[in-house]
Amino acid sequence: MIRHNYHTHTFRCGHAVGEDEEYVLEAIGAGMQTLGFSDHVMLENISQPRVRGDFELTENYFSSIRDLQEKYKERIKILLGFEAEPFEDYFPYYKMLLESKKIDYLILGNHCALEDGKIVYFFSKNTSKENLIAYKNTLIKGMRTGLFLYVAHPDYFMGGYPVFDRTCKIISEEICDCAKELNIPLELNLAAIRRGKVQLGSETRYLYPYIEFWKIAKKKGCKVILGLDAHGPKELTHRANDLGIKMAKELNLDIVDRLEVHNYFKK
Ligand SMILES: [Zn+2]
Ligand SMILES: [Zn+2]
Repeated sequence: MIRHNYHTHTFRCGHAVGEDEEYVLEAIGAGMQTLGFSDHVMLENISQPRVRGDFELTENYFSSIRDLQEKYKERIKILLGFEAEPFEDYFPYYKMLLESKKIDYLILGNHCALEDGKIVYFFSKNTSKENLIAYKNTLIKGMRTGLFLYVAHPDYFMGGYPVFDRTCKIISEEICDCAKELNIPLELNLAAIRRGKVQLGSETRYLYPYIEFWKIAKKKGCKVILGLDAHGPKELTHRANDLGIKMAKELNLDIVDRLEVHNYFKK
């Protein structure tokens, strides 16, 4: 049972379903204590239909979640955040959101890289060593900003890469070393577990979590948080979520189940 979840999406991103309040009621019904909304960040001048909501939806997102926070404050702690890519051009925007307390936190979701206003890498479609290195460099740059509460699915690069080769091992070690140094938790993400195992190369497995990555995280002594990454209210309570909890226990990971959002970002 996950009592504190910081990874929840909304319909605004175009690939999640349900009303915001339905997520809240589902969480309360399940006895959850913290429900953090972290929809895909909406960015000025970036249009990615069905990936993230348009920038114009931002105020609606903020007001809806803040209203629910107030309405249900006696029953559950609701937080407002974003899952955001480490796009350098937008770091000042992220910083402003945190400093002005328009949002409570950010989690780092490194899905793609942006250069000169264009998306240049999709990390779920890893096909090359170059792409893996770009993933790692982009991720570490984001981690070092201090803007992010934790790293969502750090093993996301295995979602499109057929085998955990030497390059995968090296970048995993670098990512875990950096997480350890900065004391930033890594998220074992449950979304792809709910989707079930798939055939990739010669392996039948979840796209992520990828066990070899988490063995390295364990060895390096990284802090780990479980993230539901819910894209529908019922995903908060999906039976398959227990498989992720079981996996984390079997790996004997150093789990943190609750995070303090209010002081992690220091100006
Ligand atoms: Zn999503
Ligand atoms: Zn993500």
